[in-house]
Amino acid sequence: MSDTQYVMVIDLVKCIGCHACTVACQIENDVPKGFRRSMVIDAEVGQFPTVHSVKLPRLCNHCADAPCEKVCPTGATYHLDSTIQVDEAKCIGCEKCIAACPYKARFMHPVSHKASKCTFCYHRASSGLMPACISTCVAQARYFGDARNPGSDVSRMLATRPHQVLSPGSGTRPNVYYVGRSPEDGVAAVGDAWTHSTHK
Ligand code: SF4
Ligand code: SF4
Repeated sequence: MSDTQYVMVIDLVKCIGCHACTVACQIENDVPKGFRRSMVIDAEVGQFPTVHSVKLPRLCNHCADAPCEKVCPTGATYHLDSTIQVDEAKCIGCEKCIAACPYKARFMHPVSHKASKCTFCYHRASSGLMPACISTCVAQARYFGDARNPGSDVSRMLATRPHQVLSPGSGTRPNVYYVGRSPEDGVAAVGDAWTHSTHK
């Protein structure tokens, strides 16, 4: 097991839905036009009469128990330092991982015809840099770091603030957490309702 557990914590009170994170990801990772590795959706949470509108950032959850990894027949989808990555050289484009992801976080790259998704900007994180979406967030609504380091921002947030993950019932053990809304708001259930990973 890796000594590092990269996690992202997103504060739903702070997010203003400006999409700077989305644009930064597109540029940093050369994401093809019409596709998204990271996005912000409008979601309604809660139950009448206390329904709220929230800006909900979405990305691959880098699940500890990842269905996409289990179904991959070639080992192209694999764990790396607690993140989930795709080895393009091994990917045969069968799309099994895309069908298996309960968060619809993957898409088939229109040029390479390989599975594609958020990497937690591993190329930056492994050099001690923050992912592009974190560095660009004007509202400082996103946090990233090692959950096994008790002194990290993410550890402190998870230790002191109520948090939730999307679709906890799917058993995937996501590494993307949301704070700023109570579980009673039903943010976790949005994971089931969300159906688009690509916007054309
Ligand atoms: Fe795999 Fe989807 Fe989980 Fe990402 S969110 S690790 S693509 S199952
Ligand atoms: Fe694995 Fe690629 Fe098939 Fe996905 S499309 S299951 S990464 S071989």
